[in-house]
Amino acid sequence: MLSVAEAVKQLVASAKPRLVRESLPVLNSLGRILATDICAAVDVPPADNSAMDGYAFCYAEAEAHNFQLPLSQRIAAGTAPQPLAANTAARIFTGAEIPAGADTVAMQENCSEQNGSVDLGMVKAKSNVRPRGQDIQVGQTILTAGTKVRAQEMGLLSSIGIKTIEVFEPLRVAIFSTGDELVEPGTALQPGQIYNSNRATLTGLIQSLGMTVVDLGVVKDSPEATDAVLNTAAEMGDIVISAGGVSVGEEDYVKAAVAKAGELNFWKVAIKPGKPLAFGRVGDRPFIGLPGNPASVFVTFMILARPFLLASQGVADVRPAFLKARAQFAKSGESREVYLRARLTDGGVAIYPNQSSGVLASACWGDVFVRQQSGESVEVGDLIDVLPYSQ
Ligand code: AMP
Ligand code: MG
Repeated sequence: MLSVAEAVKQLVASAKPRLVRESLPVLNSLGRILATDICAAVDVPPADNSAMDGYAFCYAEAEAHNFQLPLSQRIAAGTAPQPLAANTAARIFTGAEIPAGADTVAMQENCSEQNGSVDLGMVKAKSNVRPRGQDIQVGQTILTAGTKVRAQEMGLLSSIGIKTIEVFEPLRVAIFSTGDELVEPGTALQPGQIYNSNRATLTGLIQSLGMTVVDLGVVKDSPEATDAVLNTAAEMGDIVISAGGVSVGEEDYVKAAVAKAGELNFWKVAIKPGKPLAFGRVGDRPFIGLPGNPASVFVTFMILARPFLLASQGVADVRPAFLKARAQFAKSGESREVYLRARLTDGGVAIYPNQSSGVLASACWGDVFVRQQSGESVEVGDLIDVLPYSQ
């Protein structure tokens, strides 16, 4: 059996991004992946400015005048100051440019103004001045290709005056579910039937990565239907993902159909839930066959498929960001690496009582996975690995 780390490594290494670029307004780029490095053409801030409402002056001059100076100008944010007249102070407001000749701002709460002069109170030289370029300097690479654009990147790009950026077009991920027992929500269940939940789970997971879902619905458990859907999926998607039908039962047709349409590597990954994972290609499209159990779909998508999809989308860093938390539960070790659906609380991390691969409620109750390494038993109070999945 492959370890989870080895499986992820092989998946990511085999990702061949075939990415198309597009130009997008920064304001519409949330969640997209930068296609180029971004270099700053301006300093941020572009000039020294005041961090406070107060008075700007030259510290050496103020010292020579017992910190009492006549006022010579008023500088509001958004105006261009005059050079500061010698031995004077300027009334200044937060964000306004420091006039040439001034090097210090005294905050207004410590000053008193009378008859056109200001008593500057106690102030340290150079204080309350935000220097030009303190955030970003001209020529600096502020973001690199492969970075996911979050709200703060949108802000940073705007702060250097960038209005549109080059990003990668979202990958089209073709999905289908297999199983004669599946019916869609909205119809009444007949004996023997269950509702198709994997379709919706996969749709949400893929959309939350900023990718486009090509939804091919449900496929009957037959070789013909499986061959047909794989062909369509490979035409319509950049990557194909299926759920169910990859075990060793007589009604599992996905592996044979993939082997026929391309190439199949069937992996037993030492992960719980979700051991069987089919990986290969249909024509020249990468294919991942996830197990059918709803909680296994959630776990194997997040742990195995997600890094592959991100790497295929051009994301530079696809490593999962594990944290540590104190276990509020005890659990003996297992041979496979276990991903428990769990919840962070003030006192540590608690697990959902039923961790069966058919219990999707566990994933909704939780907001993190607890990773229990193969053979690792957990005692109450142990520091354990936790991976947030809610973002
Ligand atoms: P399979 O891998 O096809 O044998 O499916 C394993 C288990 O997951 C079976 O109990 C299936 O009924 C269930 N299952 C498979 N696909 C879905 C689905 N799309 N939605 C809900 N349950 C499913
Ligand atoms: Mg099935």
